[in-house]
Amino acid sequence: MARPPHTPPPPPPGGGGAPAPPPAARGWHVFPLRPGSKVPALHGEKTCTRTGPCQAGHVKWEQRATTDPDRIRTAWSRAPFNVGIATGPSGLLVIDLDTPEHKGSTDAPDGAATFAALCERAGHAVPTTHRTRTPSGGQHLYFTAPQGTRYANTAGTVAASVDTRAWGGYVVAAGSITPAGPYEALCGSVAVPVPSWLQSILRPAPRASHAPSVAVTGQSRRYADVALASEARNVAAAQHGQREATLFRAARAVGRFVAWGDLPRHVVEQALQEAGEAAGLSVSECRSTLRSALNWSIAHNPVRRDAA
Ligand SMILES: [Zn+2]
Repeated sequence: MARPPHTPPPPPPGGGGAPAPPPAARGWHVFPLRPGSKVPALHGEKTCTRTGPCQAGHVKWEQRATTDPDRIRTAWSRAPFNVGIATGPSGLLVIDLDTPEHKGSTDAPDGAATFAALCERAGHAVPTTHRTRTPSGGQHLYFTAPQGTRYANTAGTVAASVDTRAWGGYVVAAGSITPAGPYEALCGSVAVPVPSWLQSILRPAPRASHAPSVAVTGQSRRYADVALASEARNVAAAQHGQREATLFRAARAVGRFVAWGDLPRHVVEQALQEAGEAAGLSVSECRSTLRSALNWSIAHNPVRRDAA
């Protein structure tokens, strides 16, 4: 099948009221979200009655998402559904730049600033592509995934507040409305292909052999310092039951700066060790968690997207 043109949904008519039904020819695989919400309007596996499309077994939203104009028209004639775009089947990779407030931390850099810093470090501007603003003040940047590449969702592995949505994920389309506000198209009417330089940023962590071939700029160094300080604060403030997982995530997130040569490993280890101990973890728990997380981050094979 030829790849459909990737054009964004239009804003709702008049800028308010019920969201517009998704137009048929957009080429993105859509499914209904409950009116005024981000939750799929389709039933989940637990409540599946094994009837209709699920006769042979439950069919989840990713598989039911469609580009079929008749099915879309019929579904959206029933209620003012919001629009979910199943990113995987649509051939999309959406970069989800969240705000730290939304993630429960107030002094971390927001996802947009972090992502801009990552792009700048790679020597490029943030690509112009279809972009939406979320009600929480975050942004979604839409890209088409390279043919044959199967990206998975990520949460915090690229950087803090920089997530990705691909196979297994969905995004709320522009024009959808929630109690917190609308999803709005910001710029770029078309999703552009992921540039190759960006693909390397989106890998979970660079190969150790890719360690800095370019001179470390003062800027990226400063950014790495800020990221480390912010992660250390998160770890120190982690709640009981979340401490080890928070430490592990922080070390994996900051570990890429070690691999890049922006931060010495012992500096990261010391900062996060102190933060983990401040949160109440034992010296040995911190040490072993840090060792495995940093080793993973530095050595993780980036070409594992097919494993999703
Ligand atoms: Zn079902």
